[in-house]
Amino acid sequence: MSQQLVFQLSGTCNEYPWGKKGNDSLAARLCAQTPGTDFKIEPSHYYSEMWFGDYNDFPARKLETGELLSDVLQANKKQLLGKKVIEHYDAQLPFLPKILSIAKALPLQIHPNKDLATKLHKKDPENFTDPNHKPEIAVALSKFEVFAGFKPLDEIAPLFKLQPLQQFNPDAADKWTNETLRSVTKNMLKADLQTVKKVQTELSKIPKSELGDASYILDLLPRLQDQYGPEDAGSLVALLCMNFMVFQAGDAIYIPADGIHAYLSGDIVECMARSNNVLNVGFCPPADRNNVDMFANTLTFKAHSKEDVILPSQKSEKSKNGKTVVYKPPMNEFDMFKADLSAGDTEELKACEGPGVMIVTSGEGLMKAEGQEFQLKTGYIFFVAPGVSVQWESQKGMQIHMAVI
Ligand SMILES: [Zn+2]
Repeated sequence: MSQQLVFQLSGTCNEYPWGKKGNDSLAARLCAQTPGTDFKIEPSHYYSEMWFGDYNDFPARKLETGELLSDVLQANKKQLLGKKVIEHYDAQLPFLPKILSIAKALPLQIHPNKDLATKLHKKDPENFTDPNHKPEIAVALSKFEVFAGFKPLDEIAPLFKLQPLQQFNPDAADKWTNETLRSVTKNMLKADLQTVKKVQTELSKIPKSELGDASYILDLLPRLQDQYGPEDAGSLVALLCMNFMVFQAGDAIYIPADGIHAYLSGDIVECMARSNNVLNVGFCPPADRNNVDMFANTLTFKAHSKEDVILPSQKSEKSKNGKTVVYKPPMNEFDMFKADLSAGDTEELKACEGPGVMIVTSGEGLMKAEGQEFQLKTGYIFFVAPGVSVQWESQKGMQIHMAVI
């Protein structure tokens, strides 16, 4: 039998403590929809992410046979991965798609750029499993709150004139540069737990009127303290120095390699370059914090406006009926399609040069590809080989997200 070019996959859920509980977790609900797996939602468990790529951790499998997707791809590289992936990406999927269900802040983190990732992987392969960078995108499926990138310096500087915060800017630099930001961030992250606690208490007593546009800090502080305690310096860095943004379904952000970020709440489709490297410095137990010096020395301390982080969708040239938009992050590893079909709609997606992985994020319908018909239901995941065009139709409405090259 010749190799199938389109086939259904099963994903794998993980249980990090920041995930949503039991049935509240969209990641778990979507994962549980795939028939014939032994995944069952336990009401007391916290389900954070479902992964559905060919990465070793939390791997996807070919549903029909139970084989690892990575094994299936390795056995049929030419047909299933195509020339581009074989030549440029080490014959592996260059992207890793996930669904995240976030109940509380993820660790405040950066993903090292290629240079540092290569060095770290050489020195400490156990903790840094990949020599690759990991820029990522997040497409919101519901209200999504996020800290991402540093605020413009002229928004940060006035905050550090407030009495409890002056100590982190001992040179009292009036004209802030990226280096001021670097040293202030480092000072906060290196402060002892008692100092952090004292500063947070004092900060919470400042009248809102003194903070102007930044008064949201006082609303978020108790929430973060509730999640990670009053001694986590991550709260100070996130609230004082980073952009805080609230998105709705369909909005997307792009985090470049080296970009600081912490997701706070919501359900998202996330996709990233193939890597699992991360440096954590806040919103996690002290023992899990990677070396603050390395973090402070590595990070590009460059302020971003909110607009730098937002990734707008565009019309897709691959879409025949105009029901599909594409998010194109400024990187080569992947794009993300989002198709929205209303009741009775059809859509056709022209073939792509590389492989794609799609998930039905809501609704149901039918897919035609390679002369075959596939039932689509919420949560169903499919692999689509290079050079294969697909047709979708829905009687009741359906939404699909698909990572492609
Ligand atoms: Zn990340």
